[in-house]
Amino acid sequence: MMLGKYSFGIGDRFGHQGRAQLAALQKAKEAGVDVTPVWNKSHREHSIIGTEPADVRREADAAVAACGWAGPYFVDADHIGLRNVDHFIEASDFFTLDVADWIGQPAAQAEVDAFLSRHASLIGTLEIDGLPKALRIEAAGLKAIASKYLAAVREAGRIYRHIQSRKGAGRFITEVSMDETDAPQTPVELLMILAAVADEGIAAQTVAPKFSGRFNKGVDYMGDLAAFTAEFEQDLAVIAYAVRQFGLPADLKLSIHSGSDKFSIYEPIQNALKRCDAGLHVKTAGTTWLEELIGLALAGDPGLAIAKEVYNQALARMDELCGPYATVIAIDRSRLPDPRVVANWDGSLFAQALRHDPFCAYYNHHFRQLLHVGYKIAAEMGPRFLDALERHERTIAEQVTTNIYDRHLRPLFID
Ligand SMILES: [Zn+2]
Repeated sequence: MMLGKYSFGIGDRFGHQGRAQLAALQKAKEAGVDVTPVWNKSHREHSIIGTEPADVRREADAAVAACGWAGPYFVDADHIGLRNVDHFIEASDFFTLDVADWIGQPAAQAEVDAFLSRHASLIGTLEIDGLPKALRIEAAGLKAIASKYLAAVREAGRIYRHIQSRKGAGRFITEVSMDETDAPQTPVELLMILAAVADEGIAAQTVAPKFSGRFNKGVDYMGDLAAFTAEFEQDLAVIAYAVRQFGLPADLKLSIHSGSDKFSIYEPIQNALKRCDAGLHVKTAGTTWLEELIGLALAGDPGLAIAKEVYNQALARMDELCGPYATVIAIDRSRLPDPRVVANWDGSLFAQALRHDPFCAYYNHHFRQLLHVGYKIAAEMGPRFLDALERHERTIAEQVTTNIYDRHLRPLFID
């Protein structure tokens, strides 16, 4: 199964925007760039909203049929582990093996020793095409990295073989993800992780390391742009080397999680991809749901009233809603608008405060982040919210398509 050079993860919390999302990928195709859609949803999202993996499969198949999409597309079991993967086996053909919790767990000494002797040739000075300078890898450093990551990669191997035994070899795409952890992985660590991934026999097609800087949900990148760019380019070089050296799948590529809205790094990313002729998977953060809120606000009452109610309740239940996302959001309570002020906003003002347009004076990224994690409120509204989505489908679809195409696909892959 081939994922394609460029692929884009489209989370859709309420499962109503599949066609509008796909329309953005169709526009990219018309502009001459193939980007494979991947509908992703994690166990956490399913449990908060009350959906099943089969719902995502149904949505993806329906959108593809309705739009006459002839290219590949996938349904991603996002951030799964052995404890919950079984639920996703049937509906999914893309599996994001999340082993971040296993980083730093002790590995058996015999396994560490075997890894070190198998990869002893990496010790010393290692020249890799595309790296500004040769890597210096000491025996002690190699051992420290092996001790830190082997247990995680071994766990990825167990999940991979479990999926393979259920679905059959070559019948799914595999991503190995280590992004939900505190410390970023260096290019040398990535190289060792990929060596271990190859040793485990995992046919990984994407790998999601944790990059330097902050990738908060739904807002721009925060960090040192030059450092990120250098790290990204080094990771591309390391992956190309690992593919040749360790026999990993030729289409193995990087995956960026919470990659939506990271506008300030899109240009360096696109430049690096073109220079290295490399592919990329970008997973987005379920921000399509914010376009639904924008569309509802623009549609006027009762849509606008629903959007305001979601905000009021999200503010009242802020701690509860932010809890599961504490490490990936940064909201300053004092910057959140007073509900009495919001009550007087018209739809356009609500939309401008929420829409991620850094040049708009009304854009408020604290407001945006709170609403981003507030989808539980909309889920609790049930049919009232879903009916409004259907009633205002046209207005919402326009927001969804424009957001993905103009603000994401174009700066990442096209312009
Ligand atoms: Zn992730």
